Amino acid sequence: MITIQAALARKSGSARAFRIEPVGLDAPRPGELLVRIAACGICHTDLGFAGAAGGDGGLPQILGHEGAGIIEQTGARVRGLRPGDHVVLSYQSCGRCAACRRGAPAHCARFWELNFDGERLDGSNAYHGARGHFFGQSSFATHALATPRNAVKVPKTLPLELLAPLGCGFQTGAGTILNSLRVRRGSSVAVFGAGSVGLAAVMAARIARAGVIIAIDLRPARLRLARELGATHALLSNGRLAGALRKILPRGVDYALEITGEPEVLDVAAETLAPGGALANIAVPGADASRLQPGQRMVEIIQGDAIPQVFIPKMIRYYQAGRFPIDRLLRVYPFGEINRAFADSASGRAIKAVLRMA
Ligand SMILES: [Zn+2]
Ligand SMILES: [Zn+2]
Repeated sequence: MITIQAALARKSGSARAFRIEPVGLDAPRPGELLVRIAACGICHTDLGFAGAAGGDGGLPQILGHEGAGIIEQTGARVRGLRPGDHVVLSYQSCGRCAACRRGAPAHCARFWELNFDGERLDGSNAYHGARGHFFGQSSFATHALATPRNAVKVPKTLPLELLAPLGCGFQTGAGTILNSLRVRRGSSVAVFGAGSVGLAAVMAARIARAGVIIAIDLRPARLRLARELGATHALLSNGRLAGALRKILPRGVDYALEITGEPEVLDVAAETLAPGGALANIAVPGADASRLQPGQRMVEIIQGDAIPQVFIPKMIRYYQAGRFPIDRLLRVYPFGEINRAFADSASGRAIKAVLRMA
């Protein structure tokens, strides 16, 4: 066992705040890796879980699922990865179910247990006094256990704090465009919500050579950034949004992405969809597609249907070619300032907050 430093959500007064505390972590089992975390992005799912973590008197949970770091130790039977390798950590999948075997790990039959239960599939937990294994990593810590299924080797020449958010948020935005929807050249795309996922989608829509790319948000500064990153149009979200969209695209939009989590925005997206169009629902759980016309479809998106080992290197190549400038979205905080980083993420001050552990 080693002692690591991990951020634990504790109740302080009426609020909940993270405290960085020592936690015991067992050595990697066969098939596992011990990764020294260099940086970890803060993603929307962390915000949701932070409010609830440890709230029922149970063990506090170590969150963080956009980790990146350096492999320190490998358990037995690990192939293809070795100590010293730089890795980006992504979501976990089982590798054995039908979806995993046909190359669709985002639809893994055990996705929920592996990513959210806070323990391994056999019910064990390598962490002492805390629940870990969040997204198969728990990277708000100096070290994490991962496996070759959710660790992707990356070039040592790029800073790990830049690469960390590729594991979830950027993968979801870009993957929705390039994998889930397979946006056609010359088509039209509307991105409802220009946060980190939405801006990654805007950059990917440009890579896909969409003809019209419309970014929609409440914040003018984000719309300006969206224009710089490739949006052809930017619209402030207000009561006249549907009319403004129809003015640009009288037939409607071929592909819409809902990333705001607001059911009313999803309604506007459905209403303004072109015949035969596709609506990617990323943020409204349990939405019903009854507003759609025959021939239109709504797709519920998980991780942009990305296979991390394929898609993360692809995003890195786009970054290196200057076509996916994710550096423009980052705001880096020392690990000790995790509470400020969370507050800035919740308020929208940071588009993509990244914690630097070392
Ligand atoms: Zn995430
Ligand atoms: Zn599976």
